[in-house]
Amino acid sequence: MYAKSGSLAPDVDAAERIRVIHDISVPLRTGMVVYPGDPPMTMTRAMSLAVGDIANVSQMELGVHTGTHVDAPLHFFDGAPAVEALEP
Ligand SMILES: [Zn+2]
Repeated sequence: MYAKSGSLAPDVDAAERIRVIHDISVPLRTGMVVYPGDPPMTMTRAMSLAVGDIANVSQMELGVHTGTHVDAPLHFFDGAPAVEALEP
């Protein structure tokens, strides 16, 4: 990345801006907004220390089109690659 002024010196400010990662993830929670017609998001306690279980374990039920996610080509095209087939 070089300054636009014609200088061949590296534009350090531009390089620093590129390194900033903005987390725009939407937190998953029961009752959150989902796409109309998609399954609702629910989170329940499946195991609990309070009742003698070995650990606290939550269980989530949701459509994969919920919250912040990646849509694979299969989402819109039958026979197209699913998300697990995509290159990282
Ligand atoms: Zn989606």
